[in-house]
Amino acid sequence: MQNNSYHIIFERSYYLPTNDFGQRNNKHPTWGFEPLENSNLKFGGVLKNGINHLISFDKNFLVNGIELKGRIFGLNFEDFFNAQINGPYLFYKHSENGEIERLNENIPIEFEYCNQPLKETNIKLALTPLSFKNQEWEGNCNKIGGKPIWIQEPKNICCPKCNNKMTFIFQLDSGLPDLNPINGNEIMFGNDGICYAFLCNQHKISGYLWQCT
Ligand SMILES: [Zn+2]
Repeated sequence: MQNNSYHIIFERSYYLPTNDFGQRNNKHPTWGFEPLENSNLKFGGVLKNGINHLISFDKNFLVNGIELKGRIFGLNFEDFFNAQINGPYLFYKHSENGEIERLNENIPIEFEYCNQPLKETNIKLALTPLSFKNQEWEGNCNKIGGKPIWIQEPKNICCPKCNNKMTFIFQLDSGLPDLNPINGNEIMFGNDGICYAFLCNQHKISGYLWQCT
């Protein structure tokens, strides 16, 4: 896929928010964009060592100037929550064989947080129309590339190795189906927030933060 901004399009049977009002309004046009052909990416499920799979990119995927070359993104949701609360952010090192290893040496787990994975599926992608390149926090906020949709003030996240600003890769909204029945099988990033994924391409380090209200 070329360097662009894409909205993630889920099968309706996998996910369409139940609310027809509020920020995740299921009537919002961003849910209905026409997906591109041949835009299947693997989404959700489990990797290993307690790391949940988010998205696997295909070999030719280009995001905000970075060739992802088949890179796989994933994280541990309990680490994510506790790193987000206590800082610094959660970082992973990606090795060439696709393995992901946590970089934070120590994350004190002060809060139990469910680490059940997102339900596995294939996602499709739609090109973000020009009129939604600066989308507000409403409708379908699951996207890859382009600009992040911030809930609060825009944030930078810097690579723990080189301290350079990391590149925005994708974001996922709360409410997506997970395997945690206790929360009604909906993932929550904080209080109904968004998870943002970034990458330092030089050091092959991903970093995650979330924002919520
Ligand atoms: Zn770096």
